[in-house]
Amino acid sequence: MIPNNDFLALTLNNPETLAPFQLEFNGGQGFVEETGILRLEPQQATDINLVLSVGIHGNETGPIELVNQLLKAILEGRFALTVRLLVIIGNPIAANRAERFCDVNLNRLFSGAWRHYEGLEVPRAQSLEQAVTRFFAGSATGSVRLHYDLHTAIRGSEYEKFVVHPFIGDAPYDLQQLGLLAASGIDAVLLSQQPTTTFSYYSSAEHGAHAFTVELGKVYPFGENDLSRFEAIRQTLITLISDASFPKLERDAIDSKLKFFAVQDALVKDHEDYQLTISEDVKNFTGFEKGYELAHSSQSQYLIKASGDAIIFPNANVPIGQRAGLVVRPMRLADLALR
Ligand SMILES: [Zn+2]
Repeated sequence: MIPNNDFLALTLNNPETLAPFQLEFNGGQGFVEETGILRLEPQQATDINLVLSVGIHGNETGPIELVNQLLKAILEGRFALTVRLLVIIGNPIAANRAERFCDVNLNRLFSGAWRHYEGLEVPRAQSLEQAVTRFFAGSATGSVRLHYDLHTAIRGSEYEKFVVHPFIGDAPYDLQQLGLLAASGIDAVLLSQQPTTTFSYYSSAEHGAHAFTVELGKVYPFGENDLSRFEAIRQTLITLISDASFPKLERDAIDSKLKFFAVQDALVKDHEDYQLTISEDVKNFTGFEKGYELAHSSQSQYLIKASGDAIIFPNANVPIGQRAGLVVRPMRLADLALR
């Protein structure tokens, strides 16, 4: 069993390895597959298979505490589990150090990108890919695959809660999923325009899951999170987990709750002297006028191409060749192919 049904404590007490074991809960079977990886198989599963990952960045504690609470309630039988569930606490070593990562940003290592890096996160990325592969391999043909990868952001945001929607090519966007996001208190959806090496893109591209990177506000240390700020998503997750049902929102309601942005350009650090021209504390989704110089180096210059284009994830403190931020452009729900 998991002492006190506290999977987070078990994980942080065993950050590197944990021998696999089985447990029983409320008529279902649980499997701790390795540290921070717990699969729950309900007695009677519906056709929903849900991966909830948290702590891919070790210091993003709010969602870790949120999911640990939900898990405790399931294990104690306070509400029913009706979906297959895989819970992942991504980077326990970094969590214990209260750091985003140890050697390399784990959320850049998926879809096999770990092959090109070295460090503590490399074998972990491989393990997480394998756990997700095993989990979805155990799902029934035609069943629903979901992966919500929960994060908090380094900086403030014009939209407190937002998701990054992985690139899905010409496929339509899923209204039911957008409805779940709107009901979860998400304010904005950022639509990726190309493949990447994040965990959510991996599950979307490799396993056909509806997958999102969900940013739920700012980073705080363990114990300092105001979980009431996550109340809306907590409720939609409980409904999903216990009733296997999604919020029913009309298209107009979704349109009024969610702002949409498309990634326009990636800012890539191309030289040691690469600089963003904005202050350290500029918020995500801050917009600029056409022609504003957003970044420059001795090799290049980036000028804003259209008024309203906005910056997200600015961070010039990355190795050369890596992303120093994204420029995003507002768009409308009406412009998206939906189903
Ligand atoms: Zn994160």
